[in-house]
Amino acid sequence: MRVTLLGTGDTTGTPTVGCDCDTCEEARERGIERSRFSVHVENERTGESLLIDCSPDFRQQFLTHDVPLPDAAIVSHIHFDHLDGLGNAYRLFDDLPVYAADEVDPVTGESVADTIRSKYDYLDRVTVEDVTPFESVRVCGLDVTLVPVDHPPLVCYGLCVEDPETGAKLSLSGDTSYDVPADSRAALSDPDLLLADGIVPAAFCEYHPMGGKDEGPDGTPYTFGTKHMTREGALALADDLDAAETRLVHLAHYYPPEEAFAEPLAVDGETYDL
Ligand SMILES: [Zn+2]
Ligand SMILES: [Zn+2]
Ligand SMILES: [Zn+2]
Repeated sequence: MRVTLLGTGDTTGTPTVGCDCDTCEEARERGIERSRFSVHVENERTGESLLIDCSPDFRQQFLTHDVPLPDAAIVSHIHFDHLDGLGNAYRLFDDLPVYAADEVDPVTGESVADTIRSKYDYLDRVTVEDVTPFESVRVCGLDVTLVPVDHPPLVCYGLCVEDPETGAKLSLSGDTSYDVPADSRAALSDPDLLLADGIVPAAFCEYHPMGGKDEGPDGTPYTFGTKHMTREGALALADDLDAAETRLVHLAHYYPPEEAFAEPLAVDGETYDL
């Protein structure tokens, strides 16, 4: 499978509109983009492709990167930066199946699938398909499994995508704290490529009203606030999961400029053949 990172930024992206911080300025100078989150997975055996999350930057992402429009999409959770690009499906698709979890979120009283169904009921070419976490579904010739992660207050899912022919495996942490449940970790383990939420460096926790949590052995917080992993947390998760290769994604412009474009922080447009 061919994996293209269409969007590697957090909810404001880098550069952030109206921001003149050193990191945003450097991104502008170097022509680097971290648009809102989305990953394109092409099954080269069947010629089909799957879009993971529907970025508000959908249009620009598909104009910029040489990837085909997807045959299906899967949505990790209902935050703006992962879902609100779905409106772009209007007049672009004859039929777009959108896969999402079927568990009722106690906060919203409905599942991710139901929220998408009601929010996009005007798009009759979008068909929402319910997926039960931990039960893999065959999409675009690939086996896709959603697993619960920790992104309070909403339910959110990480996922793995496996090629049943070659055994290649892509895992995504989803938007999550470091407190990923053990059964989800087991499902995500041993990927050829892990895309892990590493929104800020751990040192930035001092600026979060809730600080950090899930400290590692040396006291470094692996979770920023309650919803996302720090860089150090994402790297610790990669270690725990035995990832062969790791890219950090969902990155904020709060990384200092000398760290913001260092390895293994991803930028838009990276491709991986698994
Ligand atoms: Zn900035
Ligand atoms: Zn989120
Ligand atoms: Zn997000």
